[in-house]
Amino acid sequence: MNPYIQYMYSYPHKTAYRTLTGVSLKDYVRNLSGKGHGLYLHLPFCRTKCGYCNLFSVAGQGTETVDRYLDTAERQSRQYEMLAAPWETEFSALVIGGGTPLLLSPDQLERMFCILESHFSFDKKRELVIETSPNETNGEKLKILKQAGVTRVSMGIQSFVEEELHTLKRQHSIDRAKAALELLGTFDFPCINVDFIYGIPGQTVKSLLMSLKEALAYGPEEIFLYPLYVKPGTGLWQEGKGGIVLDPDYALLQYREAGAYLRSEGYRQDSMRRFVRSKNPRTYSECGFGTSLALGCGGRSYLGALHFCTPYAVTGAECLKQLKVYENTTDFTEITHGILLNEEEQKRRYVIRHLLIRPGLMLLKYQEQFKTYAPDDFPILKDFEERGWICREDGYLTLTEEGLSLSDHLGPLLISETVRQKMEEWEHIHGRT
Ligand code: SF4
Repeated sequence: MNPYIQYMYSYPHKTAYRTLTGVSLKDYVRNLSGKGHGLYLHLPFCRTKCGYCNLFSVAGQGTETVDRYLDTAERQSRQYEMLAAPWETEFSALVIGGGTPLLLSPDQLERMFCILESHFSFDKKRELVIETSPNETNGEKLKILKQAGVTRVSMGIQSFVEEELHTLKRQHSIDRAKAALELLGTFDFPCINVDFIYGIPGQTVKSLLMSLKEALAYGPEEIFLYPLYVKPGTGLWQEGKGGIVLDPDYALLQYREAGAYLRSEGYRQDSMRRFVRSKNPRTYSECGFGTSLALGCGGRSYLGALHFCTPYAVTGAECLKQLKVYENTTDFTEITHGILLNEEEQKRRYVIRHLLIRPGLMLLKYQEQFKTYAPDDFPILKDFEERGWICREDGYLTLTEEGLSLSDHLGPLLISETVRQKMEEWEHIHGRT
């Protein structure tokens, strides 16, 4: 069995989205009524494109392109603000992702926060999350983040071994990563999260553990461990290093050793990827699954049955094409690309969303929402239970340790036939099979 089929970051996957006609945001904006929603801003600019990156990002763009992008995001914000006004929308989380948001100049960063603050209302205790990279982290920019009230900074380190960074085509050096972590520590953000990758060609269990040990010396609140997926369209794929996760058995061994190490160092595991310092309360991560409105090009909005974004793009050329379309958009309330979920798909989304993150799927809550019993709707859950991948605990269906390690195998088994066909059709059309 291959434990690494697909990362179920959200459901359904973007490749199941299609052209939509006659869909207006006006008919779905009521999903943003009141409190507790997420606002996401996607900033797709990076200095260079990493070899494994299948995110919506473009490299080598000048400062004028970023200025034009912010102009467009401001126009989009104005339209969304007017639309949401009658619903008294208050966001409890603001996530700024990319790309590398800190590639923006200090002036552009200040302008970005100003746009967001002036067009949207936020809860006083809002979470404000931003991603950065070692090369773009400096004191001047971190000061702006601090003043803006950032609560969590997420930094992609990936490895503390020079050759592994080289294989990944990451541009930062080990010294730069250490200096950035050191600097971040002096700003006292409530949460620092660092990302690492395993399954890198040439990486061993020993070198992975060494990287994690180095990271722990900076006391990050959270560590994310990502298996290396080599996806079609990425630099590594084009170099012929295809094969999704290159050596699944060895990657699983690395994952198990790394997980055991982090747990022995006082980290609790909340999902296959997320390790959190045990003293931190268990906060349920809605990322990719809550009700969320996205700004910018490449970010996804989830408004009840309607999910939408710009068409899926991976290569620099495809992303640039979408960027142009974004800049030329005049009416952001007309939704032209996405998916409308029927009740069955909404149930699947609910199950996937809860099952893969601890504490798990609360059966009573599912029943309250859909008036049915989850294991009856999805008999495969009973099968998972019999195989020891999930267990029942205090009214929850929770992944066992074995189940957790197989998240990227179990999640895809919950994809509906309709969505699977759409995904396969997309891969076929784009020559990605
Ligand atoms: S992995 Fe992150 S830093 Fe690297 S190109 Fe993609 S978005 Fe940019």
